[in-house]
Amino acid sequence: MERKRDTVDILGVMVDRASFPDALETARDFLGTDRAHAIYTPNPEIIMKAYRSAEYTAVLNRADMVVPDGIGVVYGSRIVGKPVAERVAGYDLSCALLAYAGETGKKLYLFGGKPGVAETAAEKIQELYPGIVIAGTTHGYHQNTDHVAGEIAASGADIVLVCLGAPKQEIWIDQNKDKTGAKVLIGAGGSLDVFAGTVKRAPAFFRKLNLEWFYRLLKQPSRLGRMMDLPRFVITILFHGKMQKG
Ligand code: UDP
Repeated sequence: MERKRDTVDILGVMVDRASFPDALETARDFLGTDRAHAIYTPNPEIIMKAYRSAEYTAVLNRADMVVPDGIGVVYGSRIVGKPVAERVAGYDLSCALLAYAGETGKKLYLFGGKPGVAETAAEKIQELYPGIVIAGTTHGYHQNTDHVAGEIAASGADIVLVCLGAPKQEIWIDQNKDKTGAKVLIGAGGSLDVFAGTVKRAPAFFRKLNLEWFYRLLKQPSRLGRMMDLPRFVITILFHGKMQKG
């Protein structure tokens, strides 16, 4: 039976309003079905990319679940007047689903990152969730990624973390998910780098104050250009609201 989604339209992208536990339950339910499900985890940068591309918006809107990864998306939903329950960070949702996969002996495939990162991430994940079965790994810099879906299918994976950055990861999932035999594919951005330890997550202090984006900026000042999408995102939503009301 098709799940009825409760979503909010943020600049054309339909974002699920579910709480973290509900989003996790939905992802677990996907694992029990017999078809592939796409889960995307957009932050304001990704939604701005979609705002500039009708094609990418269509890709995101073909997902089975879209969780509000950044605090900016949570604020965006409030401005639109249909607030999401809470922030659902893609990394946290992936961890919770992997914990469940560990308990139930599910198979995981890791796709993305620089050569070596997925293997190191796999070792760390195996330590964190001992029951999980690592079905395979591959890096994210193949000239041609057409063969990857077949490799995932041969591996028998149930869950795939696709970490190629946006919009590559969502486009790859959209075009290939039905060939992988997997039940859940998550566009998980830099998560493999975090598992592997090549990129650190913001300390709890920053996370509590919703300043994870600021911590990233301090660590990687080169992200400033990309991060200008955050104020642009808020301004665009405000402008849109005015247009719709006026
Ligand atoms: N990445 C990849 N293939 C590519 C481009 C990026 O595997 O062609 C990986 C990159 O190594 C990183 C991840 O995608 O591990 C996320 O990249 P980025 O930080 O640009 O994405 P974000 O999640 O911040 O948008």
